[in-house]
Amino acid sequence: MRLFLSILVFVNVVFALEFSVKENGKSLDDNNTVLILGGMQGDEPGGFHAASLLLSDYNITKGKIIVAPNLAFESIIARNRGNFGDLNRKFAYIDENDPDFHTIERIKKLILDPEVNMVINLHDGSGFYRPQYESKDKNPNRWGNTSIIDQSEVNSTKYADLENIAKEAVENINKALIKEEHQYHLKNTKTQESNDKDMLKALTYFVVSNHKAAFANEASKNLPTHLRVYYHLLAVEYYLKKANIEFQRTFDLTPNGVYNAIEKPLEVKLFNDKILLYLDKPANAINFLPFPINQALNYKASNEITAVVLNSNSFSINYGNRLQTRLYPDYFEFSNALDSVEVIVDGKNIKTNFAQKIMVKNNFKIPSIAGVRVNVIGFDRGVDESDILISKNQMQSRYSLDKKRKIYRVEFYELKNANLADQVFEKKNNFKEIKKVSIPAKAIEKAEKKDKFIGMILVEFQ
Ligand SMILES: [Zn+2]
Repeated sequence: MRLFLSILVFVNVVFALEFSVKENGKSLDDNNTVLILGGMQGDEPGGFHAASLLLSDYNITKGKIIVAPNLAFESIIARNRGNFGDLNRKFAYIDENDPDFHTIERIKKLILDPEVNMVINLHDGSGFYRPQYESKDKNPNRWGNTSIIDQSEVNSTKYADLENIAKEAVENINKALIKEEHQYHLKNTKTQESNDKDMLKALTYFVVSNHKAAFANEASKNLPTHLRVYYHLLAVEYYLKKANIEFQRTFDLTPNGVYNAIEKPLEVKLFNDKILLYLDKPANAINFLPFPINQALNYKASNEITAVVLNSNSFSINYGNRLQTRLYPDYFEFSNALDSVEVIVDGKNIKTNFAQKIMVKNNFKIPSIAGVRVNVIGFDRGVDESDILISKNQMQSRYSLDKKRKIYRVEFYELKNANLADQVFEKKNNFKEIKKVSIPAKAIEKAEKKDKFIGMILVEFQ
């Protein structure tokens, strides 16, 4: 057993957090597909939040985008520029033994997809670029708030006139500046002409040398994240228009609209839809959270830059560079006896699946189920808490999932000797495995003596 686990751990280390690739929209005959990349460096949240929103909050109604929002996902979660050095200097040459080899290969494959004719790479750069020296933060060596191209033209069938397209992008962004000092500029690095050693190794040069249009957009690191995202999205929307791509989005493209889109509550589903964590200003820790010993430790989040990660004695949920909360596991054998339960909410009988949140105005009650006990976390009335009318003032608020003290867990357990029949559920899609996990043997031994965990719902008091 010990040997088996150590092999498992090894395999997981090799395939650490991989970046996501998602499509939005449908490609048309005229090939208007744009590839958008974010998170090339882990410490550039403007780029990876902007790219993430293009998947979570945009609906492409004509044409298609392919988005990889979190290229250096490990570095994003670890909050550093690049775990194994700068990913954006590895496109000309990479050693097969480089830990980023697999990642670079995946990115190149996306770029070389015949369907893709334009590539947009989103970065956060220092200060504000100015053609003439103005100050320490505003001068020709700064990268912030620029549209960057490697050369004036590219030998491609579409979007060959890089300079004029980027110029137009700059003009468009400058019509929507929040402050005059944020003004965008075009920066042509003339990568090949000037034999720019760094830029020759970068992603955009790889794109143009493969006869496709590449634009990099840099938002200034001097700006708060939501303003960086605002400028990134202004740029991206202009390029999409250029590619004849149409879309709708769920928020207004204003600093406030972007801020609210980034800060909206996260939803993380665990273990094939057994548990929902609704993270709206979450508590710092979620204790005694049921974790399975007999099924995959996996999760699905409401965006692509969220990950559940193993730490030494806990798990953490990270949203981009930000820690959301820590999970302290309590291991159980999981049961598939039920996938839905009844709840009486404010006098009304409803049926709900697990991993759902129910809104409660005054009170709720769980009708008892044979062979099952109910545990309302933060309500202390005994072993089984079914058939009891529960209102908010009876709850111990320190057990709430959130700092507003409104959201509580209701957990269902199969009694040890009930021997309820397992149901077969539909296969769940898009769940990602939590990496590098090995369950302590002691926890497994303990779990085998306990009741089985069936599922959880959340109640939110209004
Ligand atoms: Zn960058």
